Amino acid sequence: MENIITPELVKHEAHKYFLAPALWIIFFSFIPFMYQNFYLIVTIALMIFPGSLLFSWICFLYHESWHKYVPSIPNEKLFIFYGWLLAHDPQVYRIVHGGHHIHTNTWNDIEFHPLGFIKNDTLRHIYNLGEILLGSSFIYIITFFVIKKNARFKWQSFIISALALIVIFGSFFAFSHYFLNVKSSNIIISWILMFIIGGTIQHHSQLIEHGNIILNESTPFHDRIMLTRNLYPVGWFEKIFLFLTHWHAQEHILHHTEVSTYTRPFLHTLPMPPDAIYITFKDYKKVLWEMITK
Ligand SMILES: [Zn+2]
Ligand SMILES: [Zn+2]
Repeated sequence: MENIITPELVKHEAHKYFLAPALWIIFFSFIPFMYQNFYLIVTIALMIFPGSLLFSWICFLYHESWHKYVPSIPNEKLFIFYGWLLAHDPQVYRIVHGGHHIHTNTWNDIEFHPLGFIKNDTLRHIYNLGEILLGSSFIYIITFFVIKKNARFKWQSFIISALALIVIFGSFFAFSHYFLNVKSSNIIISWILMFIIGGTIQHHSQLIEHGNIILNESTPFHDRIMLTRNLYPVGWFEKIFLFLTHWHAQEHILHHTEVSTYTRPFLHTLPMPPDAIYITFKDYKKVLWEMITK
């Protein structure tokens, strides 16, 4: 039977939850070596592909394991592990993502607007520019400082994550420094570069979907989520971007209208709402311009 996401189809996704981190760990282990030994342009090209593809795959699965879409895998453990691979304290994303589904397209969505509405125009434009140029790493650091005050934030959990990050990134560091003879400064710079490139490409996918769509909380929920944008795969640039980000933005509205169904790996399976909004990069340029000028 066509056009149905069966439990078998969903179960078939399970292996990706293990394959992606394995590939990311192998690639990430050699980033400092590439940075030290290859031309910078070659390293940056490799950071875009396969680097950003693997990075956004981990972000993608981090999100899917939050929703526990594949019941046959240890979602909670994988969620924590993905968070650590992304140098996160996973409790931050655990706290904020529910709000993205409740307060979609309002200032109260703290996943997208950790600081809420910034009244000063210049500061708001500078903040938006930080988001555009530095991506999810920038947002994550700000969200962390905001979420510390949340009642659900646990310092004990933060300490466990901090220790896990020391062990994980300490191992990556030791491998590059002692085994591949990479200078300490090159290790750190190459990691920052990878996180900015991966996090920026990843975050633009989210900005295509929700960037600068701000409605009042009193707007009916259905009307709010229907303004979520979807990227139309019309040109080469759009197609390459969707490939690098696992088609995250192509049918994003379905993730809000059919949130309990695992829709995202199965493009063209469920019908899109007739009034779904599709944009191209040409339209997206206008969104970015408005973020830094209006
Ligand atoms: Zn979600
Ligand atoms: Zn969304």
